[in-house]
Formats: sequence, structure tokens, C-alpha cells
Amino acid sequence: MPEADFVSEAVLEQTRCVDVSLSWACNARCRFCSQDPARRPHPGLAERDAARHIWAAWRDGYRRLGFSGGEPTVDPGLERLVALGRRAGFRSIRLQSNGLKLADADYAGLLVDRGLTTVRLSVHGAPSDHDALVGVLGAAALQRRAARVLRSLGCRLGVNMVLTRPALAGLEAGVAEWLREGGVTSFTLIYPRFEGAMAAEAAALAPSFSELAGPLERVMRLLEAEGLEPPLLLHFTPCLLPGYESRMLGWHRFDARVVEPDGRVSDLDESVAASKEFPERCAACAYRARCPGVDRAYLARFGAGEFAPRAARAPSRVRGPSVDPGRRLLTENELCVLRLLSGGALGTEAFLRRAERTPLCQDCRGGQSVTDAAERLVRMGRVRRTFRKGRYEWSAVPD
Ligand code: SF4
Repeated sequence: MPEADFVSEAVLEQTRCVDVSLSWACNARCRFCSQDPARRPHPGLAERDAARHIWAAWRDGYRRLGFSGGEPTVDPGLERLVALGRRAGFRSIRLQSNGLKLADADYAGLLVDRGLTTVRLSVHGAPSDHDALVGVLGAAALQRRAARVLRSLGCRLGVNMVLTRPALAGLEAGVAEWLREGGVTSFTLIYPRFEGAMAAEAAALAPSFSELAGPLERVMRLLEAEGLEPPLLLHFTPCLLPGYESRMLGWHRFDARVVEPDGRVSDLDESVAASKEFPERCAACAYRARCPGVDRAYLARFGAGEFAPRAARAPSRVRGPSVDPGRRLLTENELCVLRLLSGGALGTEAFLRRAERTPLCQDCRGGQSVTDAAERLVRMGRVRRTFRKGRYEWSAVPD
């Protein structure tokens, strides 16, 4: 298997995720929402049922816990469920959120105090596009405040963007703004599903993959110029961006359990596979064995013309973060390393042990991510590694 593809079974085991969708209720009105607005009044998961699913997932070997919806922060029991997740054993607890309520420092602080470690904010294009797309005036400003609050609380932060046609013109500007002013370096770009509200809006809002090519290329170049990795991509196929397949979610199995607000439980890999198919021409493609396939609804709307079989796998175009000492923006793992070292120098063993325990570093477990990030910081002059009394010692270089 080529190196860029390699994720060991051990890492996949340690990153198994359970996503608990608490309800379909939401405090925004996104035009592209993949949930059916008619479900919003549904009462959602009872707290005791959510708790039961969280305990069961831990017992079944899931090691990351996510809350989504709807909007999970509108659930009055969220704080207690985060605390329960922590008690069950989860050290990585993530929210998928529009960020509106997280601008409240007291509320965000309470969630972090209970065990929240990571927030993925749903952001859509440039700030002016965002407010219109989510149907809430001032939403972009609140998100920015939420990002500052969450950063100050030591929370890991990332941005998810749904690629709608109105957001495309401002995509590069939106990413640039989050990079430079929000200090966010982790982006996931999502091709929308034609479900829920988006099913009715697809004609107006859904771009074809060909329309996406230019804006995506500009985002790739922007991140590369900053010395950062390309964004993660959801609902893409390798033939659309050959060489970037290792950044495509679904390239490796998701290994995720999804609990719906009505209590249904599904395996994400199975439900994704059920919604996809392969155009006939894919039979000849070098990617066929690993490709996640194309959404049936996409094929019905745009046809199969854009999916061109490849005779051979493309060389990887993905480069890791640069070690240029002038790089301004640090990745989440690099920030995590500096946080670990903020209390003083650590020997390698203590350093890795602390990385295992701290909620900031759960992405790093089982892999080489902590030491990789630390090595990069050494080469950038941000961390010092000295050999003393038969062991390496790591310390942060003061600014
Ligand atoms: S199998 Fe089909 S959809 Fe997948 S990469 Fe190949 S041509 Fe594209």
C-alpha cells in the first residue's frame, strides 16, 4: 500500500467513533440542510436513552464521541451528556455545531469543563454569504466570537464547509479569513447530500463537481502557500482530484456508529454504501476497489460524465505541513504539543504519557502524530530537543 494511504489497523481501532444526533431541532435555518425541516418538532432522544447509547458504545470499543443534530447545543441535557461521556471513558468528545450558542463564554466554558475537547464549526463561504445561507443575521460574527472563546479554553477547533453554489465565489476568501483571523488550520469541505431541505433546493444550490474545480484549486493553493495540508474532502471520488485521495473521507472506512434522534442506530459505512453506486464505466478504473462511489442523487441530477476512469493511481499530491521556521499558522497537533510542554521540559516517555491523557491529543493516539508534530516544531525552532542523561528532553522555545 502506498505510504500516503497507510493507516494501521491499530489507529483505526483507536479512532472508532460514535455520533449521537440528539434531536432535529436547530436555531438556524440553513437552506442546504440535509435534515427534513418537518422533523424539527420531534422531541429527539430522551436523555436516558442517549446515556444508554454512550455507555454501550464505550463497551463496544468506540473511543471517540461526537454530538450532532440538528444543532446539539439547543439540547438542554448536552452538558450532562458530555460529562457522562467523560465518565464512561471517552477522552475525545466533539461537537458539530453552528457555533451560535458557543459564543457565550460561560456556556462554552461549562461544556469544556465537563469534557468537551473538540468543536467543528459549520461555516459557509465568506461571512456575508454565511448569514444568508444559514438564515440568521449576525451568525458569522457570533461564530468568530465562539472560535475565540473556544481557543481561549484550549479546545481543538476545525471548520466544516458545505459546498453550495452561492458559497463558491467566497470560498477562498472564507478559508483565508478563518486561517488568518480565526487561526483555524483544519478544514473539511463537504459536497452536499440531496436530502431534507437540500432536496428541494438542489436546483438552486447544488454545484456540479466541474463548477467546484476552480474554487477548490484556489483553496488548495492557499493552504499550500501557508505551508499547511489540503482540506479533508467529504463525498468526493478520487477521479475528481487524483492525488488527493488520502484527504478524502471515506477512503478509509469510517468505522462509525450513528445514533439518530428517533433511536435508530446505523453503521455509517453501511449507510454510505447504500446511497452510492458506480457508473458502468468505473469497472475499468484503477481506483475501483477503494473508491467510495458516487451518490445516486448526484448521478440522477448531473449524470456520470464527470467520473472518468483512471488507468493508474495518481502519485500523491498531498504534502505534510511545512517545516519552514517562518510558517505562522500551527496545526491543531502542533498547538497541542506546545500546550503539553507549556508546564516545562518533559522526557520523551512523560511527554507521550501526557499526550495519551490529555483531551487535546486524542487525534494523536496510536499514531506518530505527537512526535511528528514535535519533530516539525523542532525543525521550525519552536521546540528544543536535548539529549541529557541518556534520554531526550523536549521543551518549548519561548516566543
Ligand atoms: S471508480 Fe468511478 S467514481 Fe471512483 S474514481 Fe474511478 S471513475 Fe471515479
